[in-house]
Amino acid sequence: ATPTALLVGTGRGAQMGILIKGPEVLESTRRIDTVVLDKTGTVTEGRMTLTAVHLAEGETREEVLRLAGALEHASEHPIAQAVARAAQSDATVEDFANVEGLGVQGIVDGHAVLVGRPRLLEEWSQHLPPRLADALAAEQAEGRTAVAVGWDGRARAVLVVSDVVKPTSKEAIGQLRALGLTPVLLTGDNEAVATSVAAEVGIDEVIAGVLPADKVDVVKRLQSEGKVVAMVGDGVNDAAALAQADLGLAMGTGTDAAIEASDLTLVRGDLRVAADALRLSRRTLSTIK
Ligand code: ADP
Ligand code: MG
Repeated sequence: ATPTALLVGTGRGAQMGILIKGPEVLESTRRIDTVVLDKTGTVTEGRMTLTAVHLAEGETREEVLRLAGALEHASEHPIAQAVARAAQSDATVEDFANVEGLGVQGIVDGHAVLVGRPRLLEEWSQHLPPRLADALAAEQAEGRTAVAVGWDGRARAVLVVSDVVKPTSKEAIGQLRALGLTPVLLTGDNEAVATSVAAEVGIDEVIAGVLPADKVDVVKRLQSEGKVVAMVGDGVNDAAALAQADLGLAMGTGTDAAIEASDLTLVRGDLRVAADALRLSRRTLSTIK
């Protein structure tokens, strides 16, 4: 018989923004000790944000963003959208052109502007001064994406875009730890990016460079070591791992494939609700015992 307490737990979950597939789902959370977290879209926002502007001597951030932002407004590239969002420029653009695989060009308020790979600027003899070349190399060494901006014959700036950590992620990891659970960051991204995200949110264990098809094997391996695993993810490439985990939690902001493969859905995509869900199920189960 399904204990009334489980049903009460399910209803309470809905109020908290947790959709639970069925009352029996909560039972499987009893022995969970490890929480595997996908990085992109789960711990991070999953979209590019402008995170730094490096300026050549004599340039201002305002003018760089005004000109580059207006130009990027006309492009659909994820880098362009990050720059345009940050800049909110209303400068006028003429003769916009996409230079395939290199960047964009156009006339902004009468200036001939280029944004893209340094190679694009070099084709117009705009070479990065040492200060910008160093900044670019340092950012790329950290695994970040950086593009150059130039106009009227000179390289003026380097813009850095990154996928940023959600504001709620760090607190959520703290809450999972307080419940005695071990968080593990799992990602297909490179080690440098993964380690810096993990450090920012307080995760010690990182499994990086994992191919989409291999995420499920990581969950199986942890289970074969005796761990009882909850997995939190949002992408199509997380679906198999979410299904394999003892408890699968999908971000409601994620893909249908992830939601369908999961036992719970965190409606608002707020990782703190994962901790709420695990806490709720413990409380619900201890009421039954
Ligand atoms: P990818 O986006 O996978 O890197 P693309 O062929 O779309 O491949 O672009 C190659 C590179 O050209 C980008 O990584 C970026 O450095 C530059 N680029 C392309 N489009 C833009 C743009 N709109 N703004 C800035 N840089 C761009
Ligand atoms: Mg592309």
